[in-house]
Amino acid sequence: MTKTAVITGSTSGIGLAIAKAFAKTGANIVLNGFGSADEIRTVTDEVAGLGAGTVLHHPADMTKPAEIADLMATAVARFGGADILVNNAGVQFVEKIEDFPVEQWDRIIAINLSSSFHTIRAAIPAMKQKGWGRIVNIASAHGLVASPFKSAYVAAKHGIMGLTKTVALEVAENGITVNSICPGYVLTPLVEKQIPDQARTRGITEEQVINEVMLKGQPTKKFITVEQVASLALYLASDEAAQITGTHVSMDGGWTAQ
Ligand code: NAD
Repeated sequence: MTKTAVITGSTSGIGLAIAKAFAKTGANIVLNGFGSADEIRTVTDEVAGLGAGTVLHHPADMTKPAEIADLMATAVARFGGADILVNNAGVQFVEKIEDFPVEQWDRIIAINLSSSFHTIRAAIPAMKQKGWGRIVNIASAHGLVASPFKSAYVAAKHGIMGLTKTVALEVAENGITVNSICPGYVLTPLVEKQIPDQARTRGITEEQVINEVMLKGQPTKKFITVEQVASLALYLASDEAAQITGTHVSMDGGWTAQ
């Protein structure tokens, strides 16, 4: 039967690459994320052109629980629910703790952590009914270790690791797996935006941020590609990965081995 994948934050970067990878398997795809009407149309057409079943975009803002509930209800109404849920939407803000804006803390915790609570709780009933489900949370190396100036991001990503383990235990007998992927630095718009911010906060050049901050801790000295993360998500969603649950897989060029 055609599977349905709901991928939050899939109009850009890692989420878009994951949507494309699932599209190639013929799955129905529920896209989500921001963009102009033109950008969203382009992305939707591009994903549909890869062999997906039905592709639709839902504009739910991951800071708004009622909109997230509507996203998940749409997946139920149109496709009988999400078989595969990828919690990917995420934002970053870089500032030292004493100057960290309260509204940025609240926003990051909402998008990078609480939105996954809202999507997961809505996705589980249909997965239980089918006796099959895959939940993949895009965490980060920052779910395992910290870096300065990223208090909200690191806290949220550590939080998603705990949520992953807890839900995995709750649904372990229902054919549903729940895992996190912990990427190191992937060159996407999220990372590109951080370069000038980090340069300002640290008082160094943008080139120094890339070589001496970002890739300094990534022993391979290369950015990870969005396609590499997507292929791991595809594997975790496969039948072969049925016994991988309640854990994380790192893809960080050796970062957290240090
Ligand atoms: P990106 O900025 O390229 O894409 C983020 C996506 O989330 C976009 O589609 C955007 O529209 C969407 N989004 C943002 N705020 C939203 C909101 N309030 N509601 C709905 N959608 C929203 O980012 P990316 O680098 O592809 O990051 C994707 C995920 O991967 C994030 O969770 C991020 O923390 C994680 N991650 C990224 C890296 C990296 O180096 N890029 C490393 C580790 C983990």
